[in-house]
Amino acid sequence: MLPFVKKIPISEPTLLGNEEKYVLDCLRSNWISSLGKYTQNFEKAFASFCGVKHAIAVVNGTAALHVALLALGVGKGDEIIVPTLTYVATANAVTYCDARLVFADCEFDTWNIDVGQIESLITQRTKGIIAVHLFGHPVDMDPLLEIAKKHKLFVLEDAAEAHGAVYKGRKVGTMGDAATFSFYGNKIITTGEGGMVTTNSDVLAERIRLLKGQGVDPQRQYWHPVIGYNYRMTNIQAAIGLAQLERVEELIERHRYNARLYSESLKELPSVVLPVEKDWASHVYWVYGILLKNFYQSRNQVMEYLAKRGIETRPFFYPVHLMPPYHRKISLPVAETISAQGIILPSSANFLKDTIHRVCQELINLLQRRSSLVQPKE
Ligand SMILES: *Cc1c(COP(=O)(O)O)cnc(C)c1O
Repeated sequence: MLPFVKKIPISEPTLLGNEEKYVLDCLRSNWISSLGKYTQNFEKAFASFCGVKHAIAVVNGTAALHVALLALGVGKGDEIIVPTLTYVATANAVTYCDARLVFADCEFDTWNIDVGQIESLITQRTKGIIAVHLFGHPVDMDPLLEIAKKHKLFVLEDAAEAHGAVYKGRKVGTMGDAATFSFYGNKIITTGEGGMVTTNSDVLAERIRLLKGQGVDPQRQYWHPVIGYNYRMTNIQAAIGLAQLERVEELIERHRYNARLYSESLKELPSVVLPVEKDWASHVYWVYGILLKNFYQSRNQVMEYLAKRGIETRPFFYPVHLMPPYHRKISLPVAETISAQGIILPSSANFLKDTIHRVCQELINLLQRRSSLVQPKE
């Protein structure tokens, strides 16, 4: 790294509200396990934020997916359709249930699951579809829900990256049979580690509560009619979550503002593909990702160049079907291309305008210099 430049991290949490006060309250009142008022208050507040009947707090977003899938009855022999371009947790949770993954390609513009391909992947064994709202842009849910209804499949929304995103006036987390969220340190709101399942179904909510709490009978202590898990969120985590939730609208607005600054600055660069926001969507820009179109082989060099200047970036997720445990001899060309070309720029709610401008300036300097050297290939 060059001397004297301040490092720009890929992302960091902003804990500037009541987080400290509520955590201290847990410590001073001795309520530090999963019992306590913050867990309940966080669940209630999150349900009301989404506009959904039930919200059930769990230890992390992966556990949320796991218990949601179990509650939806997923087991051995079932096939679950998932986008290959997602964080690996989506696939892992399906595997924990002994079910089989069926990978779908994604769209060129939103980078979300290509809904038009889903029907061709449905078999006798298909049980459900996981709609991942990638990077904070909602999936085109109406056609997806229609396909699910026609074929009697469940829909689980993986909204880990999309707290507060809106599809045609409806918040994510309210459209599927159930939805899951993550509160990992870099997500839109955080509890350090944490997750939530939302659903409008009383039956699913009850099953999820049973499964996340060791399967204990709510009427009979130490009686376990099913095999459950210990996936409970602590009161301390929920205290942080509640304080974060009080500021969620501001945090989302800041992510959206950062995205506007990035798009404004980078829109002239011919070799860069910017993220889109469909007119039916409100994108929360959990991260700001771009594609480097004409730098297919050198995406990593661009990342190294920025790293030397103190700017942390990330590649896009690898398509899950290319990774060793899930390797399939199939080609999902859109996801493969997007993954190879994609780079995530620093995306924190607490960034100042100058931070974004510095990132853009470095990128513009490099790409304009490069484009005179590299012959663009369409
Ligand atoms: C972060 C994330 C998860 C997993 O959440 P954890 O809280 O890290 O377990 C699941 N799916 C997607 C799409 C994610 O981005």
